[in-house]
Amino acid sequence: MGGEYMEKKRGVVKIFFKDKGYGFINSGEKDFYFDVKNIVGANLPNNGASVEFNETEGKKGPAAANVVILQNIKADSDDSRVICEHCKKKMVPRIVLHQGEPQHSVCPFCGGVYKKFPWPLSKKVALVAFIVVFLFLASRFIALISR
Ligand SMILES: [Zn+2]
Repeated sequence: MGGEYMEKKRGVVKIFFKDKGYGFINSGEKDFYFDVKNIVGANLPNNGASVEFNETEGKKGPAAANVVILQNIKADSDDSRVICEHCKKKMVPRIVLHQGEPQHSVCPFCGGVYKKFPWPLSKKVALVAFIVVFLFLASRFIALISR
């Protein structure tokens, strides 16, 4: 591996979900996923904290390992707030549920979508099954009318 000899990257904690235990660091060129387990030391970073980390490849893309907090941002009530890309207001995204599953989070001010959540596997399977049945019925229908 030799990871400890790799040059460290610097970035800023874009968002860290303390309740979920993960977040993203922006290096200026891209975002790196990090888990609370990848943080060196006992302190947790707040949004906007400067950090140093090793770049690794995670399951879902670029990830950060050995995250060292260089300069933390003082925690305050703005902690979990993000800037809405639609209305540019600081807000806490509101999660919208559909049939008990989180669908997306929206800005409470303008209602703009902040983040879409990936579909759960059960829904993907249901969609594929629906397409297969649809194609089967369509082929039967075409066979019927072309007789
Ligand atoms: Zn907004």
